[in-house]
Amino acid sequence: MEEKNRKIILTGDRPTGKLHVGHYVGSLRQRVELQNSGKFDEIYIMIADAQALTDNADNPEKVRQNIIEVALDYLSCGLDPERSTLFIQSQVPELTEMSFYYMNLVTVSRLQRNPTVKNEIRLRNFEASIPVGFYTYPISQAADITAFKATTVPVGDDQLPMIEQTREIVRSFNHIYDEVLVEPEALIPSNEACRRLPGIDGNAKMSKSLGNCIYLSDSPEDVKKKIMSMFTDPGHIRVQDPGKVEGNPVFIYLDAFCRDEHFSRYLPEYENLDQLKAHYMRGGLGDVKVKRFLNEVIQEELVPIRARRREYEKNIPEVYRILREGSRKAEKKAAVTLAQMKAAMKINYFDDEDLIREQARKYGGE
Ligand code: ATP
Ligand code: MG
Repeated sequence: MEEKNRKIILTGDRPTGKLHVGHYVGSLRQRVELQNSGKFDEIYIMIADAQALTDNADNPEKVRQNIIEVALDYLSCGLDPERSTLFIQSQVPELTEMSFYYMNLVTVSRLQRNPTVKNEIRLRNFEASIPVGFYTYPISQAADITAFKATTVPVGDDQLPMIEQTREIVRSFNHIYDEVLVEPEALIPSNEACRRLPGIDGNAKMSKSLGNCIYLSDSPEDVKKKIMSMFTDPGHIRVQDPGKVEGNPVFIYLDAFCRDEHFSRYLPEYENLDQLKAHYMRGGLGDVKVKRFLNEVIQEELVPIRARRREYEKNIPEVYRILREGSRKAEKKAAVTLAQMKAAMKINYFDDEDLIREQARKYGGE
């Protein structure tokens, strides 16, 4: 197939903790579906350790320990190393080199306007002491995406400003130098609840940094405990009170996870989620009953994930082997793109016979 018609996925996660159900509905579940659809020519899934270090420079052990956690989460969700290349960002040094050149194509004020970066700076209380590396991570993300000529980036909606930044860099590079890079498109879940799953504490985003997560590797008991203690509608005090479903995390999770068939299995007095919501809004439906149902639904989804995880946990050296192989394969692809970039940027001095001849002529030689 012609190189320019290939359909390529790149996406990834920071190894700052285990992956949670927000990652799962926001991106992971879709990656596995896309992988199994057979519609993509190449799939790259990256553990973004270099990016994790931009705000964890003083905690390298945390990043190191979480590489294997993220890899186990990937494999347990059904990412298949035969079909998807799983790799570690820092093991592909071409990405760092590309970032350095992209820095010349982005202004400081453009980075300052990036809403995700602004929000994350606030979240981390960086104020005046923002590490330069953290500040420029949208640029390094552009390198990650473009190195593989990715056409499709499955992500949650907090990443949309990053993809936009990447598209601008691609346009600018191709305009100034040559048509080397490919403009990617974000692929966000069609189900709105999945684009940014709230935390169990009601915070707008479930996030490793906020500690408000249900992890894919949590035990059944922990999952249940977390669900039963979840934030709901604070105005819904007695069972008979009318309750709100908008902004109520329990119902947002049901929007993200539940299908009609779950009702016949676990709550046959309702046919579907609309009926359950209507009852809650009318009053007369207690939070405990809804939470018990949510627990059944989420546990069911996690059963095969836990089982696969246990299998891979028995063979950790094999998981590292998968990552090493994947990193080698990723590096090969990134090196090709980098060589094309360098030629377009005219910094390929030693590959360019014409340049040497031309300079020689200029000085009267052959
Ligand atoms: P950190 O707090 O370290 O930034 P995180 O929980 O935000 O961690 P990331 O590794 O930054 O996780 O995100 C990886 C991917 O998962 C991104 O595509 C992001 O959009 C998606 N994602 C993360 N949290 C959620 C969420 N709560 N709902 C939907 N998608 C999410
Ligand atoms: Mg994040």
